[in-house]
Amino acid sequence: MEKKIGKGIIRLKKGDITNEKVDAIVNAANSSLMGGGGVDGAIHRRGGRKILEECKEIVKNLPGRFLPSGKAVITSGGDLDARYVIHTVGPIWRGGKDREAETLRKCYISSLELGKNKGLKELSFPSISTGAFGYPIDLAAEVAINAVADFLKDNEMIVNFVLFDDRTFNAYKEKLNRVS
Ligand code: ADP
Repeated sequence: MEKKIGKGIIRLKKGDITNEKVDAIVNAANSSLMGGGGVDGAIHRRGGRKILEECKEIVKNLPGRFLPSGKAVITSGGDLDARYVIHTVGPIWRGGKDREAETLRKCYISSLELGKNKGLKELSFPSISTGAFGYPIDLAAEVAINAVADFLKDNEMIVNFVLFDDRTFNAYKEKLNRVS
């Protein structure tokens, strides 16, 4: 399903984000940038060692040697078909009283801004924070769709959400149907 929003398009797909042939895919990374499970593991497995080497270089120069949640950095796509990987760290769900929504929104906005500054035209996102980090899917879908829709008001871009399972896909579909 896809919908024109502002100057851009939001498209929802079901599948594996590592198959995307786009300017950049977004990784739901963890703060160490050293890889992990879920989508992070899949991206590093398919993308090869180059991505990890670049992540190591980046993390070396960060205060405290970690990437705080809500921030985003960019590496090459390594062996992936995507040209770049944007790594962002979602919030861990702690019941909703720890500014999780604000942080999750920042993940989307900072990834989109990074892509825009690189001149990228098409990005693909997974559902950040709704796996190991435990963010309730309906709430995360609302934040994700609203953040991207707000960005597209002023920016021309194609933004795909590549969602791994039916439940996640349906949650994002419901939110996209409501947005104008
Ligand atoms: P987080 O730690 O941010 O919660 P996870 O990787 O655990 O990240 O989960 C985020 C979402 O990514 C979940 O919906 C999970 O099912 C999904 N996911 C896992 N592997 C892939 C993949 N290869 N492509 C797209 N989505 C994936």
